[in-house]
Amino acid sequence: MQYNSTIKSIQIANPAVKADNLQAGAEIIVPFSYDVVDTNINYTYKILQTDVSGLTARYPFLEVFTSGASVLGRDLIGLRLGIGETKVFYAASHHSLEWITSVVMMKFVEDYCDAYANGTTLSGFDIRKLFTQVSIYIVPMVNPDGIELVLNGLSPSNPNYDNLIKYNNGSTDFSKNWEANNNGVDLNHNYNASWEEAKAASAELGITSPGPTRWGGDYPFSEPETKGVSSYVDTSNFALVLAYHSQGEVIFYNYLNIDVANAVTIGNKLSEVSGYALERIDNIGQFAGFKDWFIKEFTRPGYTVEVGKGTNPLPISQFDKIYKDNLPLLLTAADEAINL
Ligand SMILES: [Zn+2]
Repeated sequence: MQYNSTIKSIQIANPAVKADNLQAGAEIIVPFSYDVVDTNINYTYKILQTDVSGLTARYPFLEVFTSGASVLGRDLIGLRLGIGETKVFYAASHHSLEWITSVVMMKFVEDYCDAYANGTTLSGFDIRKLFTQVSIYIVPMVNPDGIELVLNGLSPSNPNYDNLIKYNNGSTDFSKNWEANNNGVDLNHNYNASWEEAKAASAELGITSPGPTRWGGDYPFSEPETKGVSSYVDTSNFALVLAYHSQGEVIFYNYLNIDVANAVTIGNKLSEVSGYALERIDNIGQFAGFKDWFIKEFTRPGYTVEVGKGTNPLPISQFDKIYKDNLPLLLTAADEAINL
């Protein structure tokens, strides 16, 4: 066909249109035959927006939500896969240098939609079945402003222009070190879970003000990104959460010594399918992150998954291995949540 499309993909994108009721002049969506999510490019917020439009056009059953906005007013876009009663929440890119995790989430969304639409399996999971059992809520880019600084640099129109250079030790190059948001706050040190202790630990490293990494802000939830995500999670009754970071090929499962039923059992399964190690964190200075707050608040399983190996930002050339390791992990986490 002219658009290199298929009848099947046109039917999926236009569920109301049947072969016998297509009227002349009716507007239909004709998807291109290639994939929406390009896993071989620097993944900016703009690309995320384009991919979300492309995926929702192609797969009308894919729901979009927002979990707040960034400092600069970018929507924290979320995608919901499935209609099941059990709800899980996956978040990626709290840290800007770790944007490869956004690509993992978006490719997962595309593959999941494709498997659902076509009635196929993914990593051995029956996606049509999982779709009716679990709702997977995904916020693929918690820190879009930070990623903008890393990938596109500091815009002269940034309202925090002068401060950001100051926070970055006088440099306009944010591409190799910037983990924080547009206020110089490390979002994964801004949650209300041992926030004071994490702040004291950062102070021991000489970090006492906004900067590229590890500054937890003036108070917990001082930032719109953490406020937005935590408010959304607070009212949504999630059985389990995953927070995606890079790097280390490791899964962290604990907050302090809070005993969460099934956290180790499920953690071991996630470890087994991904090949990542399951580990504890015992250094209190490393808390105040999203999964810590979730465990503290709900006493339910929450995991930080550190993908890939090397120095952040990981090169996109690692994507294929990272995705292969994490696809079964993402599916297993949803499947395990059913029985919680
Ligand atoms: Zn991180």
